[in-house]
Amino acid sequence: MTSIDDVATRDAGRSAVHHVLLIAAHGSSTDARAREQVQRHAARIGALVPHDQTVVGFARGTPSVADVIAPLAAGTADVTTHVTVLPFMTSAGHYAQQVLPRLLHDGLAQANATGVTVQITLPVGGSRRVVAVLQRRALRRAAQERWQPRDVAILLVGHGTRRQSRSRDTALAHARALATRGWGSVQAAFIDDDPEIAPVVAAITQRQVIILPFLIGGAAHHLVDIPAALGFAPFPGTADAPGAPIEDADGRRLLLDAPLGSDDALSDIAASIAARAWQRWCSRRGRVGTGAGAAKPGSVHLVGAGPGAADLITVRGQRAVQRADVILHDRLLSPDVLAMARPDARLIDVGKQATTPQESQTAINDALVAEALAGHRVVRLKGGDPFVFGRGTEELDACHAAGIATRVTPGLSSALAAPAAAGIPVTERHVSRGFAVVTASTDNVDTPMLDHLRAVAQADTLVVLMGHARLRAIAALLVEAGRDEQTPVVCIERATLPGQRIARGTLATIGDATDRAGLQAPMVIVIGATAGRGAHRSLDVQQLV
Ligand code: SAH
Repeated sequence: MTSIDDVATRDAGRSAVHHVLLIAAHGSSTDARAREQVQRHAARIGALVPHDQTVVGFARGTPSVADVIAPLAAGTADVTTHVTVLPFMTSAGHYAQQVLPRLLHDGLAQANATGVTVQITLPVGGSRRVVAVLQRRALRRAAQERWQPRDVAILLVGHGTRRQSRSRDTALAHARALATRGWGSVQAAFIDDDPEIAPVVAAITQRQVIILPFLIGGAAHHLVDIPAALGFAPFPGTADAPGAPIEDADGRRLLLDAPLGSDDALSDIAASIAARAWQRWCSRRGRVGTGAGAAKPGSVHLVGAGPGAADLITVRGQRAVQRADVILHDRLLSPDVLAMARPDARLIDVGKQATTPQESQTAINDALVAEALAGHRVVRLKGGDPFVFGRGTEELDACHAAGIATRVTPGLSSALAAPAAAGIPVTERHVSRGFAVVTASTDNVDTPMLDHLRAVAQADTLVVLMGHARLRAIAALLVEAGRDEQTPVVCIERATLPGQRIARGTLATIGDATDRAGLQAPMVIVIGATAGRGAHRSLDVQQLV
């Protein structure tokens, strides 16, 4: 946290603390949608943070920041109120730096508040995790248009103001970070500051341009000011659903994305900023939360991250990630999940250490134990569910042997999520009464590699993990074990992630079908009558992803 400011510290040493999160947004006195969008984020943030209460105040529109701060200040003799103020804005500009602190001071002074402490966090748009969100949005739009990132220019458009140059800094910093991520070029321009949009676009040499509005709310800016600067009106698309690209006079194809504020990921980022501020306050105060000074015992929390998409982690899992001091994670985890971590949390990629699987597992067990013994709150973040082919028990055993407290938070396994995301049921009335989940990978040297599949060959639905490299052998073994060659098979690659792909066939044809489609690991294979389902639905899902 870089910019926490205490604007009032009148904590009179009271015993109980009421923690309030105040989400301070710009809003709009004319555009109710801008306020609704913030309220939607606030509801999600409220569910994620450790605070007792979450409220929203606007600079423009009601309730104002002053409206909400005054009642909060009505403390009682033995309760301290601590208010974490989170500017739900893109940049630490004029409002966040000057106006908001003054409003808070005035509000508290008018209410004659005692027993209230206030801290202002950095604005949500200032988190470096925003870069990952912008990158994801741009990649998704490029994929939809079948544009290669290296041929695409990204234009990040911030608001800016000529009164305060600092408000440009965040957009410029994010643009610099995006510039290292494979795009043809990355520029920043501003609605109300230099550099302006039109000259920046005119200098772009790429034929394809994705415009990312670095704005919250901002329907008017997004749909009016940006198009007007480019000489287009009306512009295709709506405030939250971007339209098709439009061609400018020089033949560039310009695609205007929805404002950053429409992205749900902003709730997660805001929640982790707020949770971190809460934690810092608690540890500074030394009474609640992590507690200052005292040697605290470490712990290991095994968390399932879900199948891929960041918003498929559980709420409990997300909280654990947000609070962790150290996170040991698998290699293939979505950067958006890792982005939920505290800025100062240590992220350790344990996926890369493999010399042999056993050696790397031993190294992971040792690292978990060492970090926890050092007093850290350790999260071991694993893809899918920790106990589905995740070697979770070996890690827990190592911790228990060292006397370390552990906890397990389940995750949504790809074994179930991949078929579901492709519209394929694993059970269906009158079609499949059950399913078996098996791995195609085993290091049991006493039996041939796929022999264990024989025991489940007749399962109505068979879900195979880690089977990409052995797909043809699996199909052949099942036919040999008596399954009909015409049994439907579906392979789902990168389930729930952008670029999820599906290949369909039968036990006789699936090897060729996946080769033709060029499907790669990670892949879930679903075999059985229900695998023939879902063709129409999977199309919808792919378009949504
Ligand atoms: N614990 C994980 C599984 C680990 S084994 C879980 O519960 O999901 C790794 C295998 O899981 C991969 O080889 C692949 O078969 C499957 N897998 C994991 N994520 C996947 C995804 N997003 N899409 C397709 N398959 C996936």
